[in-house]
Amino acid sequence: MSSDLSDVQDKYNWVGALGDFFASLPDEVPSEILDAFSVIQDHGNILPPRLFYEVVEQSSIAISITDNQANILYVNQAFQNLTGYCSDELQGKNESILSYKATPKTVYQELWASILSGNAWNGILVNKRKDGSRYLAEVTVAPVSCNRTESHYFLGMHRDVTALHNLKNKVHNQKELIESVVDHAPMAIALLDMDGTVVLDNRTYKTLMADLGGREPAELILQSVNSILYGDFESACARGHDFEHQEVRLLPGPGQEARWFSCSASWIQEFDLRAESYFELHIQSGLLLVANDITRQKREQEQARINAVQALMMEQSATLNMQETLSGAIFKMQEPLNMIEAAAEMLKRQEPGQDHLYRTLKQALEAGHQAVKTLRASIPGEVSEATGPVNMNDVVRDVLNIMAARLLAEGVVVDCRPTESLPFVTGQAGKLRALVKYLLDNAIDALREPGNWQREFMIITRNNNNERIELWIQDMGPGLAPELRFKAFEPFFSNWNARRGHSGMGLTMAQQIAVEYGGEVEVDTEYNNGCRVRVSIPLDGGQQ
Ligand code: FAD
Repeated sequence: MSSDLSDVQDKYNWVGALGDFFASLPDEVPSEILDAFSVIQDHGNILPPRLFYEVVEQSSIAISITDNQANILYVNQAFQNLTGYCSDELQGKNESILSYKATPKTVYQELWASILSGNAWNGILVNKRKDGSRYLAEVTVAPVSCNRTESHYFLGMHRDVTALHNLKNKVHNQKELIESVVDHAPMAIALLDMDGTVVLDNRTYKTLMADLGGREPAELILQSVNSILYGDFESACARGHDFEHQEVRLLPGPGQEARWFSCSASWIQEFDLRAESYFELHIQSGLLLVANDITRQKREQEQARINAVQALMMEQSATLNMQETLSGAIFKMQEPLNMIEAAAEMLKRQEPGQDHLYRTLKQALEAGHQAVKTLRASIPGEVSEATGPVNMNDVVRDVLNIMAARLLAEGVVVDCRPTESLPFVTGQAGKLRALVKYLLDNAIDALREPGNWQREFMIITRNNNNERIELWIQDMGPGLAPELRFKAFEPFFSNWNARRGHSGMGLTMAQQIAVEYGGEVEVDTEYNNGCRVRVSIPLDGGQQ
């Protein structure tokens, strides 16, 4: 045994089987081998060196050991499989044999700067195989030095990550494509996580959010849809409820017109990416919300509805005018007939000899009553309309829409203050529209009276204890004298200074309709700036 070997043996105090083994080693055993065994001893490990060799040889990672100039000393089986070279072809060759020359020089400079300063380097290189085919190599190069000598070695480990890289690029490209399609889609799209937070949205969604003054459209849509569908977002998550083509009305802000959206939502399932969920199929859900702006279609539909309502109102108005005129004529005829009747009775009592005159008066009276009867018979019947739930806010809105041209022409400003969520009244929408129109016509007429009136009126709807709906119409015209408070409801009464083309039947007819529904119309003559008319109608429309 060489003095070297005995020194090392003494130094590491090898005993037992390992001691016997070393006692038998020839003199020429390189010192690196002895150092390797010293490391094994240091770690209290007595695994045979062959085992380490086999582990490296069978590793699925391509492993190489080079000298300090990157000349290959050893390659494992995986290295040969990956590169296509056999061990003999690589011995003594530089690692640059693998370089495809598509890797920038700076990358190699970084690699070398790192390993020469004693640090490992990790990065991606473009490699080529023996057959010239290229692959992306994820490479780790680490300097390895032996204790007893000055010699330095480099350990190289690499694996083919081409497929992984392709997959990453494919996912990236698909993501870009989908994002671009989604971003340019004309409908607002948002993806919500399980907490209801928007995690992804498109350009249209962002624009809508700006239009809504920064309010989250998804939140407003879900609030609106939740009440119809399933209560709250949390229970919807739990039950996986989705919905399709739900129409939602959003109010951008004060003074701006409402917008309509057709909204659909579906739950999407994605795999849980956490390592602990690999064997269990944990699935996370997100809600994909799509909102399509249908304001234009809605407006067209609404216009068509208004046109139909207008046509119906015209028909009803013609009927009501006829009823109004004939009722007025009957009312007017009743007065002289009563006088004739009184005169005839007086004549009979006071002038018994005047039989001829009495008979003539009686004949005239009979002819008058006959005429009244004929007039009554010719009063047209009502335009048939179904009775059902009616929202007075809708009634006011329809009438204002129908009167829009007149209001514009008269330069009248309407301050409309509907109470939100008004309960329904049981009645006929057409009749209730007629009621409102009589009162609005009066309000406009009042503003046309001579004087410096503010050309404005206010309409308020109110819910009175969930029992009655109240409608207040306040104009800024000349007002009504207190003594006319009841007279104003008499047929043909008109207080206007100028001729209006109306017969003075508006309040009468409005009162008649209100009474029909168990309600009433009152005129507040004390109202400060003009006239205030209050309509009150019970929710059951007087049906109980
Ligand atoms: P080169 O002229 O050889 O080198 C390019 C630049 O690298 C030079 O400008 C210089 O800055 C630097 N450089 C090169 N050699 C040295 C050196 N001895 N000392 C200091 N700086 C130096 N390359 C691959 O392409 N694929 C691999 O899989 C790969 N595995 C490697 C494994 C190990 C263990 C080591 C040590 C190196 C490995 N290399 C690998 C790097 C390889 O040795 C070459 O540096 C590289 O391939 C570039 O070769 P080249 O002929 O194109 O240019």
